[in-house]
Amino acid sequence: MAQSAEADWVARFADDVIAEAGQRAPGKKIIVASGISPSGPIHLGNLREIMVPHLVADEIKRRDVPCEHILSWDDFDRYRKVPAGYDPAWAEHIGKALTSVPPPEGSGYASWSDHFKAPFREALAALGVEVTEISQTAEYTSGTYREQILHAMRERRRINDILGRYRTKNKPGAVEDQDDEESTAYYPYKPYCSGCDRDLTTVISYDDNTTGLTYQCQACGNRETVRLSEFNRGKLVWKIDWPMRWAVKGVAFEPSGVDHQSPGSSWVVGQQLVREIFDAEPPIGPMYAFVGISGMAKMSSSKGGVPTAADALQILEPQLMRWLYARRRPNQAFNISFGDEISRTYDEWDALERRIAAGEASPVDVAVHRRATRTASGFLPTTPRRLPYRTLASILDITTGDEEQTLRILRDFDPEQPLASLDETRPRLDCAQRWVTTHVEPGQRTRVRAEPDSQALEAMSGREAEALKLLVDGLTDHWSLDGLTKLVYAVPKLQAGLDADAKPTPQLKTAQRAFFALLYRLLVGRDTGPRLPTLLLAIGHERIRQLLAAG
Ligand SMILES: [Zn+2]
Repeated sequence: MAQSAEADWVARFADDVIAEAGQRAPGKKIIVASGISPSGPIHLGNLREIMVPHLVADEIKRRDVPCEHILSWDDFDRYRKVPAGYDPAWAEHIGKALTSVPPPEGSGYASWSDHFKAPFREALAALGVEVTEISQTAEYTSGTYREQILHAMRERRRINDILGRYRTKNKPGAVEDQDDEESTAYYPYKPYCSGCDRDLTTVISYDDNTTGLTYQCQACGNRETVRLSEFNRGKLVWKIDWPMRWAVKGVAFEPSGVDHQSPGSSWVVGQQLVREIFDAEPPIGPMYAFVGISGMAKMSSSKGGVPTAADALQILEPQLMRWLYARRRPNQAFNISFGDEISRTYDEWDALERRIAAGEASPVDVAVHRRATRTASGFLPTTPRRLPYRTLASILDITTGDEEQTLRILRDFDPEQPLASLDETRPRLDCAQRWVTTHVEPGQRTRVRAEPDSQALEAMSGREAEALKLLVDGLTDHWSLDGLTKLVYAVPKLQAGLDADAKPTPQLKTAQRAFFALLYRLLVGRDTGPRLPTLLLAIGHERIRQLLAAG
């Protein structure tokens, strides 16, 4: 059924998941899962945990096969540490469930976890990602997993044996969490103390017949006996929790990060536990490689220096974000750049769209583009007039975002099809604007000279003065992006007695470079700057004449 050369990785996984789910539970809705811990700002790198299953679920839905993508919020996990940049006083809540920790100072949300879920949820909506959210706090505290908890407690010795197979292979210290450290009596369950809300508890004894469980709290000294058949304030330890959920939800696809796939990791142990203890099959679960972040300016990083999906969506259109994830197989690492590279990302995307429009793109490129621009539910909003990001950023840099001035410059860009309103260039324009103000270092911003550099003008050679005159005289006839591009390259040719269309020689290239450097120095007081045609359009006739007028 795979469409061989035309299939991208998403289509191939969808083939596998549909086939596998059809065998396991014929006719039932396919469940694809992600899990996120809302323990602090959710790092942009974690978005892959959502995007990989999203793309597969979306492909399954496009084929009209019922499918649901569940997002499991691990909000019943313990609060482990205060993230960098947050009030250290919150350390007093360490050991509580994330839903029991108060939100950061000044937050309007009810809890620590709610505070960090909200921006992530918004980012997912902007990206066209549809998920069914499941709060593990809600599940555990309502007794959803009662049967599985009691079962795991009855089977604790077998569970301990399975974990033991990996312990012996593991080097000390390689254990993923301490919940399953070897102990005389192993319990796969940890209560939150009813005295202090923390999980610094030790299970002392458990009676399989009565389900009576006695625990002792190390934090407050509380010792209590509860009945697990009705107690809802605890959870299975992570390595048991995860496979239990695969079984309960019938998860057919759930990828995990590289760190989960080493020997003895929760993924590997979970494969055994789900089969041997919970009598179900593990999901198809590719490993995904990390997504790196580069070029993030210090001044722009959010609280704690963590780039989030919301930060990236400030500067990247949602389609481009989707494209970055769709075009790479999960096991390929890649970088998302917040620096100058971002222009290249947009350029590559625009080039792809041109190839598609011209019917020159490969089938895989077309498939990936389709995943980026629409979901099974519809198209994502798009920018009607897609001008190069680099150009928009240069203009906004020079105009410092002044709308009237920006519109005037953009109108001159293509006099044949003048822009009617800035809205035609949105949301890309807004992304470029935010990029310029938050990611371009102040020292890199372009400052058009307020006054002519009279010293430099007086020191010019006669040949340089002649070049400036040729440029200034040609402005009116060449006042468009294409026209000015031709003009700036033509000036040194005309000076050399050549035709404006002459092929460049090494000497000509040297002359062009020297001419451009001269223009940059006179216009912006540096040796480089935005592309000259863009810069000239942005500065405007009158000011160019003023800054380049010798004497
Ligand atoms: Zn306590």
